[in-house]
Amino acid sequence: MPRPKLQIIVLFQNLGDEQPYFARCPAPPLSGLLLAGLTPDLVDVEVLHEMVRPIDYDTDADFIALSFMDFCAPHAYRVAARFRALGKTVIAGGRYPSTAPHQVLPHFDVVVVGEAEPIWARVIEDLVTGKAKKLYQAPFAPSLELVGTPRYDLAEPVFTAPMVLEATRGCPFRCTYCQLNIRTTPHRCRPIEQVIRDLTATAGLPFHKRKMAMFYDNNFAGDMTYAKELLREIARLDFWAVGFQFTFNCLKDDEFVDLLHQAHGAMAFIGLESLNQPSLRAVQKRQNKVEEYREQFTKLRERGIMSFTGMMIALDEDTPEYYQTLPQRIEEVDPSAILLSISIPIPGTPFHQEVEREGRIFDRDVSHYEGDHLVFTPRHVAPGDVFDAYERLNRSFYSWRSIALRWWRLVSTYVARGRGWMRFIRSILVSYIFLQVSLFERDHARQKVYQVSRRNRAEVADALQQRRARASHALPVMHAG
Ligand code: SF4
Repeated sequence: MPRPKLQIIVLFQNLGDEQPYFARCPAPPLSGLLLAGLTPDLVDVEVLHEMVRPIDYDTDADFIALSFMDFCAPHAYRVAARFRALGKTVIAGGRYPSTAPHQVLPHFDVVVVGEAEPIWARVIEDLVTGKAKKLYQAPFAPSLELVGTPRYDLAEPVFTAPMVLEATRGCPFRCTYCQLNIRTTPHRCRPIEQVIRDLTATAGLPFHKRKMAMFYDNNFAGDMTYAKELLREIARLDFWAVGFQFTFNCLKDDEFVDLLHQAHGAMAFIGLESLNQPSLRAVQKRQNKVEEYREQFTKLRERGIMSFTGMMIALDEDTPEYYQTLPQRIEEVDPSAILLSISIPIPGTPFHQEVEREGRIFDRDVSHYEGDHLVFTPRHVAPGDVFDAYERLNRSFYSWRSIALRWWRLVSTYVARGRGWMRFIRSILVSYIFLQVSLFERDHARQKVYQVSRRNRAEVADALQQRRARASHALPVMHAG
């Protein structure tokens, strides 16, 4: 008898089927491949990443597991309804189902809350035997010893670097906008031997895809002693390029930066978020010191590691003057690539509570909470300033000329300092990653964000006008009271 089939779908199309957008991201998200790796062989399993291919409603899968974040929730409900109408059993998991299970429950047959490792095998067993419950709740912040090896072999061939994994979860910092602080998530580390096991589980992958890996930790070096020990082990492996994510303060540790280089580090994703210190203070990102950005990023460049940094606009202490100088200031800091987004008051975070308390949220459609829309009124800048700043910064940073100059600074600094032929080979690899990331960000802005911001501009003006009209109607009543 054939085994039942489970299809895991990692959702992405927050604006629905009418406005699909496929992203040329070099690496897949982790959640689907990780869940597939945890799935017991009671079922056949496949993974679909909606960021690169559309959902196939003709699938012969019996069970459909949807993994999604907040901004995909309305889309997830529509997808679930279509699959349920076709007689499939639909399961929800991921960030949003874990933080708002009771909003998600009516739309699904099964909802999995929390980190799935301790309970996923049980969910599958119950599904196969027809005894599935409506809600499965994992213990909060479990030990990471149960984390399995992701099924890299199930990633779509279009992904250049399908080996994605994590060594740690959680973060010691408390930035007010971060979803980790909806419920303070402790920083935890996996056993080093298990991380090495996952880095060498390359069966089924073409040769070149075994040579690149990306760590998706919230903060790889949240425990510096652990991070250094792990890097020493990774340095022994035969990788061409490895990417890491960690916080800015880690760069002050020269030994750590040297170990990143020895561990084949080719890319470091670091959340700078702002070049405006008061805005960083306002969101309690105290570990970032604007005056140190340039010096620390130079260290990475000298070691042939490209810096890829998160940048947010519409933070509460941003001013029109800051936006005017931003393109020039970012050139001075000289990150290799930026991931630019409009700040999001993620429901449940301290930042959301603050803007909610102050009555500044004018858009409650969670499909707009992805960083491409403005959903609240910033303190010191008008919505139009935010859209203009986004577009001006993106167009100047990702112009062909600017990309070419940054590439030259990246490789020439390294080649001038490095020794031996390896520096040339490494420069080619880093150039390839630099180009992939830069083109992805450039395309994303042009194909999606600029269109969204044109519509959003009109919607925001409309929403603010309605609010003003409501306020002026309410005034006499307030005075009468
Ligand atoms: S440093 Fe990053 S991961 Fe840590 S709390 Fe701040 S935003 Fe979240």
